[in-house]
Amino acid sequence: MSRISIIVPVYNEKSAILPFFEELQMHLAYPDISFEVIFINDGSTDSTQSKLEEIARSDDRVRLISFSRNFGKEAATTAGYRTATGDAVIAIDADLQHPPHLIPEFIKQWQIGSEVVIGVRTNNASDSLFKRLSSLLYYKIINSISETKLVPKATDFRLVDRQVVDALNELNERNRMTRSLIDWLGFKRDYIHFEAPERQYGTASYSTWKLIKLATESFISHSLVPLRLAGYLGVVITLLAGILGTVMFTDRFIVSFGFNFSGPAILAIIILFLVGIVLISLGLFSFYIGQIYHETQNRPLYVIRKQK
Ligand code: UDP
Ligand code: MG
Repeated sequence: MSRISIIVPVYNEKSAILPFFEELQMHLAYPDISFEVIFINDGSTDSTQSKLEEIARSDDRVRLISFSRNFGKEAATTAGYRTATGDAVIAIDADLQHPPHLIPEFIKQWQIGSEVVIGVRTNNASDSLFKRLSSLLYYKIINSISETKLVPKATDFRLVDRQVVDALNELNERNRMTRSLIDWLGFKRDYIHFEAPERQYGTASYSTWKLIKLATESFISHSLVPLRLAGYLGVVITLLAGILGTVMFTDRFIVSFGFNFSGPAILAIIILFLVGIVLISLGLFSFYIGQIYHETQNRPLYVIRKQK
């Protein structure tokens, strides 16, 4: 008999939560698998809490964690992974955009040996052009600068085997994106493609600003390329200003090429040269900061797969 935990971060889903749980229940009937469903109420300010308590009373497989305020989906998901006791953990959104009827497919993949099964979204008709373009750009940039490759449109809807969960729970960094941490861990992975239906109840609580903040955080936690670029720019500026400065100096004091550079022009080149040097120093900083950052992240040097 194996055990599977379903973890659901919930924030202000008063109208979605009951339909979600009804649909979820229909897919949790297996003779040889027991389930626990963990709802993490991420500081909802509507009637979500009382609805969740009602659900927990009606079904003793349900456990409820309530945050003291809104800490964000990443924190809620993390609490779920840390609380789950199952041999595998499935994380799913409460807004029915992650169709619960796919759960049997996730379980099937797991039973035939996958250690991480990832839900990958195909198109989403309701997404704005802006959201689509920015997500395309996001994956282009992050895949060109980071060491772990991300599959575009891979979602948080995923099944994670116990040993991957244990490894995940060892990672203590604060600035986290669970999705990319799981990707970093490796293990045998498979993908399930699904079309995310439009949100029927409520509105997505991830505003554009929140998404921009999330994207910026993940760029920064993935690499120091942005800061390093300043350094490279500095090298270019210093070189050009140095060459031009040498020409000016020669023209004025050694042999005249007839350019007759003005005083301000010479001053400008000297300043440009110094600005370049400042930028180079910033770039150098990024190497030191990078080392400090990696040390404080305190990630394990490697992750070992248990022998079965
Ligand atoms: N959510 C959460 N905390 C938040 C925002 C969202 O726990 O601060 C939950 C939300 O209830 C839902 C899931 O995270 O179950 C995904 O949120 P949403 O649908 O707003 O995001 P999107 O579908 O755009 O990823
Ligand atoms: Mg959603």
